[in-house]
Amino acid sequence: LPRVLPRAEHGISRKQIDDQTLKVLYRLHNNGFKAYLVGGGVRDLLLGRTPKDFDVGTDATPSQVKKLFRNCFLVGRRFRLAHIRFGQDGLVEVATFRRQAGPDDLPENPDDHFGFAENIFGTPQEDAFRRDFTINALFYNIEDFSIIDYVGGLDDLEARRLRVIGDPLVRFTEDPVRMLRALEFSARLAFTLDEEVREAIYRRAPLIAEAAPARIREEMMELFRHRVGGEVLRNAQATGLLPHLLAGFEGEEETFSLLEKVDARTASGKAIDEPFVLAALHLHRFRGACPAGEELTVADAVRIAGLVLAPHCNYFHIAHGVRHQARELLVGFYRLGRGRGMRGERRFLQHPAFRGALEFLALWSEATGEGVELVARWQEVPESGPSEGRPRGEEGK
Ligand code: ATP
Ligand code: MG
Repeated sequence: LPRVLPRAEHGISRKQIDDQTLKVLYRLHNNGFKAYLVGGGVRDLLLGRTPKDFDVGTDATPSQVKKLFRNCFLVGRRFRLAHIRFGQDGLVEVATFRRQAGPDDLPENPDDHFGFAENIFGTPQEDAFRRDFTINALFYNIEDFSIIDYVGGLDDLEARRLRVIGDPLVRFTEDPVRMLRALEFSARLAFTLDEEVREAIYRRAPLIAEAAPARIREEMMELFRHRVGGEVLRNAQATGLLPHLLAGFEGEEETFSLLEKVDARTASGKAIDEPFVLAALHLHRFRGACPAGEELTVADAVRIAGLVLAPHCNYFHIAHGVRHQARELLVGFYRLGRGRGMRGERRFLQHPAFRGALEFLALWSEATGEGVELVARWQEVPESGPSEGRPRGEEGK
């Protein structure tokens, strides 16, 4: 039996839930269905954080949901979800309770990276148990405003501890991406990683190399959106996950501190972009690949940056535009690193990549304590770029 926390014993109030989500919950409930707020939204509200979004769980099937709402669209190939649209950009996602498929359930699609069928409806209890962490499996019941806890998530929230539902070795084997998510949530919430979880990551780390690259790429960007990329990759190193997650990364201190500066930049309100992350991940190797004490042409630097980025970008199917921008950051870093007054400087100062490269150099300088004067000299260039006028001799050739 689940633990049920009545309304009087928790702090979640309906005022914290947006009107559209409430409307959906009430309409399901008024039509005789179970209607719960599920997942990250409940967790965040209980922690006093503002949820990014709310998800609704119900025992109504997707087609039953569709009948109740005019603007309802069924989406998803592996698992049918109901999307209920409100106006231009309002969206509430409703999922029917499901259970994890067992060995007797044939996979719908043998290429599924989960390796088993997912589209199987289940009870609320089964729906709680298929989830990843105890704190992600709490339900808020619109019927009586209580919290329903099948998995001990309330105790773990209280203890600020990240625990896997079930045996971590089994759950990480089923879906290795959960190892990365474990590091992500423990960093985002500043929760302790359960010792059993840490041990299981260490033992199952090689499996992450078999996860679908698209999912890893998405979870990686999620880390940087939440400003914990540096910390999580540092912990991935400590738990033995990093070499399997990003082939060829050695986990140098320089890279971790640079990534932490990238996270701090995002914290200051700048949107995270993938080229920045890629450039930061590869800077150490790019610098190592540039022959020391030898003057490279810009064309050589472009070639080396391209070679350094290629394995990662090919593996993760990163679009050419993004690669190109990452390469420009690395090449810009090289050009700025040579100091001022070099051939082609004037043209470079007007190049759209200049500002990004300077910001990148400044982050690296903060991370390592190197190049402080160099950064200052480049920052003397006014925001509007160099003043118009006669080009210096080097230009126009
Ligand atoms: P946030 O959206 O704030 O990052 P979240 O908890 O909502 O956090 P999502 O990735 O949006 O995380 O997933 C929603 C819910 O789906 C989770 O709370 C969890 O219950 C479940 N879930 C997500 N990924 C997995 C997974 N790989 N294995 C099992 N359950 C998962
Ligand atoms: Mg979510």
